[in-house]
Amino acid sequence: MPEIKRIVIVGGVAGGASAAARARRLSETAHIVLFERGPHVSFANCGLPYHIGGDISDRRKLLVQTPESLRARFNLDVRVNSEVVAIDRAAKEVLVRERLTGREYREPYDALVLSPGAEPVRPPVPGAGDPRVLTLRNLEDMEAILAAADGASVERAVVVGAGYIGLEMAEAFDGRGLEVVVVERLPQVLSVADPEMAFPLQEELARNHVELRLNVSAKAFVPAENGLDVLLDDGSLLRCGLAVMAIGVRPEAKLAREAGLELGPTGGIRVDDRMTTSDPAILAVGDAVEVRDLVTGSPAAIPLAGPANRQGRLAADVIFGRPGRYKDTQGTSVVRVFDQTFAMTGASEKALARAGRPFRKIYVHTADHASYYPGAKPIALKLLFDPADGRILGAQAVGQAGVDKRMDVLAVALRAGLTVFDLEDLELSYAPPYGSAKDPVNMAGFVAANVLRGDVSDWELEELANPGDALLLDVRMPEEFAQGTIPGALNVPVDDLRGRLSELPKDRELRVFCQVGLRGYVACRMLSQLGYRCRNLSGGYRIYGFWKGAGLDRR
Ligand code: FAD
Repeated sequence: MPEIKRIVIVGGVAGGASAAARARRLSETAHIVLFERGPHVSFANCGLPYHIGGDISDRRKLLVQTPESLRARFNLDVRVNSEVVAIDRAAKEVLVRERLTGREYREPYDALVLSPGAEPVRPPVPGAGDPRVLTLRNLEDMEAILAAADGASVERAVVVGAGYIGLEMAEAFDGRGLEVVVVERLPQVLSVADPEMAFPLQEELARNHVELRLNVSAKAFVPAENGLDVLLDDGSLLRCGLAVMAIGVRPEAKLAREAGLELGPTGGIRVDDRMTTSDPAILAVGDAVEVRDLVTGSPAAIPLAGPANRQGRLAADVIFGRPGRYKDTQGTSVVRVFDQTFAMTGASEKALARAGRPFRKIYVHTADHASYYPGAKPIALKLLFDPADGRILGAQAVGQAGVDKRMDVLAVALRAGLTVFDLEDLELSYAPPYGSAKDPVNMAGFVAANVLRGDVSDWELEELANPGDALLLDVRMPEEFAQGTIPGALNVPVDDLRGRLSELPKDRELRVFCQVGLRGYVACRMLSQLGYRCRNLSGGYRIYGFWKGAGLDRR
C-alpha cells in the first residue's frame, strides 16, 4: 500500500476499536476516523447478559471506552451515531449518514477497515415485530429488555434459542426473579456442542426451574391480555411478558455486498489471511467475515470476541506493512449456565462427521482438583483425535469448576498441532486445591494413547443398536449396579473377576463398562491377557447417562 494518511474504520466495538487503537500505536501521524452507527463505542457486548442478571450491577462498567477516552488516549476521530451507508471504491470514499440529523457526507480513505459485526437473526414469523419481542446485541437492546422485564405484570420470559446468548439470558432472567421458558428447535441446547456433552446443561436448567422445550419452534407472537402469547409449532401457547429471540446471528455484510466485495458461502465477507477483502484497499474483520475453520478447513462464520479483537489488531499491522497472518479460527468458547460451565475448542464430533474426517473419541471423568481436598467437583471431558497420528481435533468439557483452565490447555495443544501422546507428557501446575498430579488433560492423553497403542480396545454406545452375540459386562459394585445399569448387562465387580472367570464366555465379545471408564480399563487389561475378547466403554455408565439423557438412544 502507498503511504497511509487516512484510515477509516466502520464499527466501533471489538474489531473496529482494536484496529483503531493499534493503528494509532503504529502511526502517530495517520488520521484515523472511527464510525459507529450506535451511540456507544467499545462497549462490553459480552457483559450485557450479566448486567441484566445483576452480576454487573453498575451499567457504566460496560462502557470500556468512550469517544472521549479514545480521543484522549489515541487521538482517534470517533464519530458515533454515524452510519456508513455506502462505499465508493473508485473514489476511495465512504458515504456517511448522521443518524440524529440525517445529514450525509463523504469521507475519503487510503485504507478502509470494515468491522460491522453480525446481526441477530429475526425469522419472519407473525408478530415478531411486537415491541415485547426483543434481541440482544448492544446497550440499547439491553435497556429495552430491562424495561420490558421490569414491567409490573411481567412474571415470565420466553427465550427462543438455546445457544450461548439464549442460555446466558435464561440465567439472567432467572436472576431477575422471572419464570423462564427456553424454546429450542433442535433436540439439544448449544448446537455447537455434541448432544451428550450439552446434556448436563439441560439438567442444570431443570435444576434451576428453567423450563426447556426442545424440538419446537416459535411460530407466531400474539398480543394477549396482560402479555404476549408465543405460539409454538406443536400447537402450544406460552403466555409471557417478553420474549427474547436468540436464534443466532448473521454477518452484517450488506455494505460490503453493495460495494461489490466478494462474500463467501457462509454469507460473510471473504478475506485472505491478511484480512484483506477482494479490494486491496479494504480490510474486514470480526463477526462480519468468513474465516477458515482450523480443523476442518471449511469456510466458517464463528462470531467470537477473541478472533474479532485479534483480527482488528492484525488489520492495523497489515495497513502499515507489518508481517503477520491470520491462522484460522478454532472456535474456543466457554459459557456458564448457573453452576455448570461448558467449554470447547476445535471440531465437535458432529462437525467432523459432517466433514467426513476420520476421528476417534474418548471421555474421561475426573475431579477438578485432588479428590481428598474439600470441594472437588467432577469434570466430564471429551477428546476427539486423529486415529492415524493422534493429533488433537477437538475437545469439550462440562463441570462446575476448572473447566475453562483445561479447555485453554487443550486449545493451545490443538493450535500447536500436539497429539494425544504429547498430552501424556504435559507438565501442568498442581497442588491439591487446584488439580491433581495427573491432571484431567494428562488423563485424557493417557486414555486416548491407550486406545491408539492398542493397550485397550473401546466400544461405543452407538453399537448398542447392534448387540450381535456380545455380552455387556458391568464391573461396578453390586450397589452401583442395583441403582441402574445398561439393560442386559451381567454384573461382576472388577475385584471379583479373577474368581468368577468361569461365568464369562470366551467365545463371545465382552463389552465392559464401569462408572467412568477406569475400572473397565483395568478389567479389560486383565481379561484380554487371559484370552478374552474384550472392549471397554470410554466414559463408562456416566456417559451412558448423558447419551441417553440427550435422547441419542432413540435417534
Ligand atoms: P461488534 O462488536 O458487534 O461491533 C460492530 C459494530 O459495528 C456495532 O456496534 C455496529 O453498530 C457497528 N456498525 C455496523 N454497521 C455499521 C455501519 N454501516 N456504520 C457504522 N457502524 C456500523 N463472544 C465471546 O467470545 N465470548 C462471549 O462471552 C460473548 N458474549 C456475547 C454476548 C452477547 C450478548 C453478544 C451480543 C455477543 C457476545 N459475544 C461473545 C460475541 C462478541 O461480542 C462478538 O464476536 C464481537 O463483538 C464481534 O466484534 P465485531 O467488531 O465484529 O462486531
